[in-house]
Amino acid sequence: MSQEPRQRHRVFYKSIPKVELHRHLEGSLRLSTMIEIAREFDLDVPYRDTEKLRAMLQVQEGDPFTHQNFLSKFQSLRLFYQTPEVIKRLTREVVADAAEDGIRYMELRFTPVALTRIKDFSLGDAMKWVIASTNEASEEYGIKTRLIASTNRHESVELASEVIHLAIDFKDGGIVGIDLAGDEANFPGEPFAPIIKEAKQAGLHVTIHAGEWGGADNVIEAIEKLGAERIGHGVRVMENPNAVALAREKQVTFEVCPTSNYQSGVVPSLNEHPLPQMIKEGLDATINTDDPSISQIELSDEYELACEGLGFTLPDLRESILDAARASFLDKVERKALVDSLTKDIADWTTKNSKD
Ligand SMILES: [Zn+2]
Repeated sequence: MSQEPRQRHRVFYKSIPKVELHRHLEGSLRLSTMIEIAREFDLDVPYRDTEKLRAMLQVQEGDPFTHQNFLSKFQSLRLFYQTPEVIKRLTREVVADAAEDGIRYMELRFTPVALTRIKDFSLGDAMKWVIASTNEASEEYGIKTRLIASTNRHESVELASEVIHLAIDFKDGGIVGIDLAGDEANFPGEPFAPIIKEAKQAGLHVTIHAGEWGGADNVIEAIEKLGAERIGHGVRVMENPNAVALAREKQVTFEVCPTSNYQSGVVPSLNEHPLPQMIKEGLDATINTDDPSISQIELSDEYELACEGLGFTLPDLRESILDAARASFLDKVERKALVDSLTKDIADWTTKNSKD
């Protein structure tokens, strides 16, 4: 594609009103900011060489497209969470970047354990910094944002329990849900079932990373044993018709992240992503980024990929954006308001763009 149409595409997809349900704070950090932080704290990373630092923090074309490689970027990023001010600044920029990409509503997930390890901050303090900064920045940049507290299944149940209890305490600050992430291939979710149930009883929603590095059985486990309302990724659900039928019956929403799946080796190529088949099977599948800076994408790029590479029509895209709004973890009244305002804004957008 020559430069000019590419540019036109960017403007076009950027201008669509969007909903993001699956984005990790720690995977959304600006490289330019990381260079500044590394320099300021003289971190043991190659900050004088932008390309070397980029290779450490972002997936590159020549990288092995594996989970291990993808995860190694998060490990390197943990070095940067040096002060409360840094964590607040990073959060603010993530919200600003989402607003700039035309996202109207975002559920931003963050991993308190990741943010606290390098300087031994308390989990509660880190959560307060993220909450305060998210709320301030959302106001400033005109985007509605809610938070999901994420915890890893390859870390201990005790740690998850601490994070989830804090998430319950901070519910009024804008935490609407919890997420179980991490190595689903080697760590079952079941040990976390009692604590996830507690979160649910306290009014938090539940999304579970499953059917990404592990197979369709993990999707079944997430729905039946962990009470997942949404599944992070879940693309391998397609390996088992029973899992597909269960997800359809329970009306579980899938938070699909195409480029991330490609870069971590879940799908062999972008054009072979099973998103269209998932929709054909009657599953609610939404389009998300996962980790925009690690993957060097924006949500606009994923919408563009759906339309230009996966056969989505604009009405298909519209439906998936509205599906995302309907599956949001807002309360009933706010959810309806979001669906109504997006329905109107997308209709206005369609009218404007069919005239141009
Ligand atoms: Zn994720």
